[in-house]
This record gives sequence, structure tokens and C-alpha cells, in this order.
Amino acid sequence: MPTYKAISPNELLEIKEAYTELFDKVSPKFKGDDEENINEAFELALEAHGEQRRKSGEPYIMHPIEVARICFEEIGLGPTAVIGAILHDVVEDTQISQSDILDKFGPKVSKIVDGLTKIDGLYNNESSPQAANLKKVLSTLVEDVRVILIKLADRLHNMRTIDSMPRHKQIGIAAETSYIYVPLAHRLGLYNIKKEIEDIILKIKEPEDYNYIISKIKETEGDRKNYIQDFFKPLSAKLDKLKEDTNGRYKYMASENGDEALTFDYRILGRTKAVSSIYNKLKTKKVPFEKIYDLFAIRIIADVPIEEEKQICWQIYSIVTDVYKPIPERLKDWITSPKGNGYESLHTTVIGPEGRYVEVQVRTERMDEIAEKGFAAHWKYKGVNTSNNVYDRWLNNIREILDTQHSDAIEFLNDFKTNLFSEEVYVFTPNGDMRVLPKGATALDFAFDIHSDLGYKTTAIKVNNKIVPMGYKLQNGDQLEIITSKNQKPSESWLKMVVTGKARSKIRASMKEDRRAKGILGKEALERKLRNMKVGFDENVDLIVKHFGYQSRPDLYFDISNDDFKMAELKVFTVENQRLVPPAKEPPKGSPAPTDEQTKTSPKSAKTKISTNILVNDEPIDQYKYDFARCCKPVQGDPIFAYLTSENSLKIHRLNCTNAENLLMKYGYRVLKAEWTRLGNSEFIAELMIKGVDSGVGVIQTLTNVISNDLQLNMRSFSIKGKEGYFEGLISVLVKNKDQLKLAMDAIEKLDGIYEISRVEK
Ligand code: MN
Repeated sequence: MPTYKAISPNELLEIKEAYTELFDKVSPKFKGDDEENINEAFELALEAHGEQRRKSGEPYIMHPIEVARICFEEIGLGPTAVIGAILHDVVEDTQISQSDILDKFGPKVSKIVDGLTKIDGLYNNESSPQAANLKKVLSTLVEDVRVILIKLADRLHNMRTIDSMPRHKQIGIAAETSYIYVPLAHRLGLYNIKKEIEDIILKIKEPEDYNYIISKIKETEGDRKNYIQDFFKPLSAKLDKLKEDTNGRYKYMASENGDEALTFDYRILGRTKAVSSIYNKLKTKKVPFEKIYDLFAIRIIADVPIEEEKQICWQIYSIVTDVYKPIPERLKDWITSPKGNGYESLHTTVIGPEGRYVEVQVRTERMDEIAEKGFAAHWKYKGVNTSNNVYDRWLNNIREILDTQHSDAIEFLNDFKTNLFSEEVYVFTPNGDMRVLPKGATALDFAFDIHSDLGYKTTAIKVNNKIVPMGYKLQNGDQLEIITSKNQKPSESWLKMVVTGKARSKIRASMKEDRRAKGILGKEALERKLRNMKVGFDENVDLIVKHFGYQSRPDLYFDISNDDFKMAELKVFTVENQRLVPPAKEPPKGSPAPTDEQTKTSPKSAKTKISTNILVNDEPIDQYKYDFARCCKPVQGDPIFAYLTSENSLKIHRLNCTNAENLLMKYGYRVLKAEWTRLGNSEFIAELMIKGVDSGVGVIQTLTNVISNDLQLNMRSFSIKGKEGYFEGLISVLVKNKDQLKLAMDAIEKLDGIYEISRVEK
């Protein structure tokens, strides 16, 4: 236990202030024992956390208070969740037990706190403690959604204060957060939180790019404001008129209950997109900041009663499109059919002043609250809209996945990711019943979704009356018909044709059964054979298993019945007294191998010896066997981490490698901090993708010239392919560091005919 500095009287004052502020905010919502309970929760947490401090030095208790505030203000949860949030770290980090909480606060709060308490990762054999913990959180989630919302608030506050963590921890936390919490926030419609978290992750992973985008957004703020004003000038008269037209009607309603807010009003927002989404645009579209025109969206929010929502939104749409030409294919009507996470809004893109494309979002205050706060706001309005069961369906899916058998926690995690975070696809049965499956699901998934017995017997599938392969990816609106046969049964290859957890586990179960049945046949065949050889079965079967390198008896039986093991092979044995005697042992295969091994590894280790310019956990990397990951090819200066492979060597990856998040999340314990030192003059291979137009003067020659003569870089390989003047080239060059690489890329980009250059990441 670390020892902490005692809490000073000044700090205690600050703590009490923060708590009182929270209390005052929540108090209008108190019911029953809430007031008593919240005070008691605070006293208990204050006492229990005692002198504990956060990495920042702040008294620990400030964290649960802040998490509770986020739950109330930013997510819109009520007093019970606030109490749960105040207590969320108490059982995990202090002497207080789960039964203490149950005694003091009753089953509801106790359940929430239990869901938020981590499983002790030290004493279980899980391959991934993170995954095991997530599974626990999700099991509680299906009973009480507040658990996951508090968990998100907890994560949000930890991300907001992540600066005080050491950098390698930041990286691990960022990976876990982006793997799980970002998609969860998205799925629960917590748009603001998702946006903020994604921006913090970007700041950790790509600090330079992050700062660049922030400064650019600031720089261009004035222009944007002017543009939005210009955009609205021709609209405002009509919008004001709509406001007046509708006023008369609503005044009548207003006089009925005296609520002025019922008069139709509108707000206009011109909001810039999240830094991270701008970053993605810069990366995928490969255009400079100045050329991103959809940096912001214009939002018109009407405050109207529910019955008028749809009509008013379309009236506003019509006002906007009377003035500006809309792009028809960009019209999205999420008012008539809301998104899977409950999002409602009308989106369109119009050609605004100066010919720029402008996204316009039209919605009501209610829709806006749901769009920003998500789940909790949705619940508040439950009953208002008939399509309110979007979350119910999602929760049902979670229940189903939790009920599915998984071989380990990682498999569970994968299932969870593909099935719950993806968008959905809507298809129909021959009777016109709608089924909802995760996007990417196949025709065979559909069969298993209807019923597993139907899945097992599927021989062909018709989509819109045409036969399709069973692995056909479903499209919205498809109508499916399953053709079955009594004699059909699933095979190994079916596993590749499904994505849903349900279909996969059913296919596996059936194959297991098949294997068992085949095993019986194989065993019988072996018994017959041994009888013929006049030897006993029980005495010899394990000898055969071992001699032919099988893991177990069933494996051998299975191969026999599939004819993958030929009984004739048993003739290597001689027979003595009902016992098989194996042939004399061959000389151990391993003996010449070591020299082989050595010649193989020595050039590698010689190569790694040169570059002593990486520190792993603050020590020189020389003591490890290591190499650079082929997927992302780091060069000196790139943010990196080291990954301990199962062969106990290190692989150095770039932090923004597409594999990184996966590795960091699932095998966080195998990740070591790695940093470049300024020493060392090794060279690194960087792979560049160059796109351009060949003007006919030999672009290859120009490129080669610039790279080897002007830039003085060694080229390792160069391949180019083109069609009708357009070409794509792949060049490997040796560079000393990231700066040199950047200089080279800038120089190449400036050449005539080159319009895009990027580092290859795969
Ligand atoms: Mn916490």
C-alpha cells in the first residue's frame, strides 16, 4: 500500500464544496430516501478513500464526485445512478465490502456497485483479464443499463485527466478505450462523449497531427462564422415567417398551461466536426485541411410539440432547399426511420454560397437532446415514439451473446465487437416479417437467426427469388427464402460463411456432435484391426496415439473414420505377447538442426546489434531479440511500442499501426513501453505509395533521380503500375528517421505529376 500525504483542511474544504455543488444540482430530483442515501454515500466514500490520491495528486474522492456529476449533467441519469457513481470505486479500492453496500443502500445500488467492481485479474487464468471484466460489466448491463453509463462516465473522467499518467499507460488506456468504450458510447447514442473521448485518444496517439488540426480550426474560425452568417441571410426572413405562422396556433396551447416554451422557436448552430473526424478525413481523402469543406454542419433546431415535429422539420427543409440546391442522394430521413442507436434527424447537403457543399441538419429540441445525450434522454421520452424499442433489441442481442458458449474471453470479445457494435441490416422472410441482423451478416446467418434447425438443414438460399451462395452478404430490403434438405449437415467450411455468434456456436456444436459420431466409427474400426493383428485394444491404443503424434484418442478415431489415418501404417509395429512393439528409435531429429537455427538467426541478431537506439522499459533493447513489425515498418521518431511475442522476442510496432489497438487491448500484458533514444544511426525501411499522372516524360526516371541524387536516399525496391497515364508506385527507401522521411515525402509531393504520397500501412 502506498502511503499518502494526509488530506489538508483546505483540500477538505474543496471536497465539501464539490460535493455540495453536486448535491444542489441533483436535489430537485430526490425521491424517497435519496437525500439520506446520497449523503451517506458521500460520507462513506470520503471515509473509505481516506488519504488515497490520484496520480495527479488530487484527493481520490474528487474522482467519484466528478463521475457522479458527469452521470447527472452530461448523461442525464438520476439520483440512484449518482449514488452508485459516488460509490463506484469503494469496493474495489478500499476495505468496504459488497455486503456493506447492500446493508446500507439496498439491492439496487449494491447491484450497480457490484457491476462496476473489477474482477481480480491476478488470481484467474483468463487469457485476457480486460475481456473477462467487460463480460462481467455486460452481464450487469442487461439487468441495469446504468452500470455501463456510469462506467462510461468513469472512463470519460479518467480520459479527461489522463495527462498525469505515464505515457505508456496512456497508450494502453487509449487502446482499450477505443476498442470498447467508443463503440459503446456510439451504440448508446452518447454522441458528445464519444466525440470528446475520440479526440483525447487522437491527442495521445498522434499529438502532432492533433495540435495541427486544433490550430487550423482556430485560425479559420472567423471565416467560418462569416460564412454561416452569409448562409442564413437569405433564409432568415422565411424562417421568421414560419415562426410567426405557427405562433398563433401554439399560443392557444400556451394559454392552456401557461408554458411559453410551447411557442415555436428555432436555434441555429454551426458546429465544427470532432478533431478526430477531421483527422480521418485528412487521412482517408488525403486532402489538405483547406480543402475540407464539410468541417462543420449547420443545425436548425425547432422547439415544437411532438405531434408537429415531422411536419415542421420538412417545412424547414423546404425553406432551405428553396434557396440552395440540394444534392438528392445526400438526403437522409432519420425522422421517419431513426438509426439503430435512436438518432433522429433530417440531413441534407446543399450547395451554399461560393459553391461550397454544406451539410444541414434539421431536428427538434427533443431529437437534439437524444442525439447528444443518447440513452438516458431516450428513456426520458419513452412512450413518445413508437420506434422506441431500438435499445430493447440491442439489449436482447447482448443477452444472446452472453448465453453463447465461448472457448475463451477473447472469442467472446470478438463476438461482442462484430455483433453489437456494427450497424444493422434489415431483411424480410417470405411472409414479409422483418428480421434485423448485424451489418455484414450472410444468408446463412439469416437461416440460423430464424431457427437453428432451419440453419442445419440449409442447402440453398434464394434472395429476391434468385439462388445465391450461402455466404451472400445481406442487403437492406432483401427477401430471403431458405431451401432445406433432410440430409444436409453443417461442415467446417460453414464457419467461414457466417459472422453472427449464434450461427457460429450452433455450427460448432453440430460439428462436435458429428465428430463424436465419427469417433465411434473410428474406434470400432481400430478395434477390428487390432483383433485381426491378434493384439489387445486397451493395452495398445495409447501407444498408437503417442507413436503417431496424436493429442488424444478421439483425435486418432476421427482421423481413422475420415481415412486420414491409414490402418496399414500399423505395420511398423511388431507384435509380442499381445503387445505392439514400436520400431527402434530413429536418431533424434533435432541434432543437426541447431546449426541450421544458428545460421538462420545470426544475420538477424547481427543486424539488430547495430541499432541500439531503442529503450524498452527504459533499458537498451540489446538484451532482447527483436525486430521491426512488417505491417507498419516503424522508422526512428515514430511513436512506437514493443510487443512480446509468444517466442519471447520483441516486435516493434508503430502506435498507429492498424494491428496495434487489437494487440494493446487483448494482450495488454505483453506490451512494453518503447522509446527512441537520440543515439544510433541505423537505417529503416519505409514504404511509400505514390500516385500520379505520367505526363510522358518518364516519371520513374524523375522519381529515381530525386530520391537517389537530390535526397541521397537508398532505394530498396520500386514497382509501378499504370493505366492511361495514371500510375501507382510502391517505393521502399532507407531512412534514418521520421524527419528525413518527412522531408523526402514533401520533396516528392512537390514534383510535377505527383498528386499523392503516403506511407504504406497495412
Ligand atoms: Mn473510477
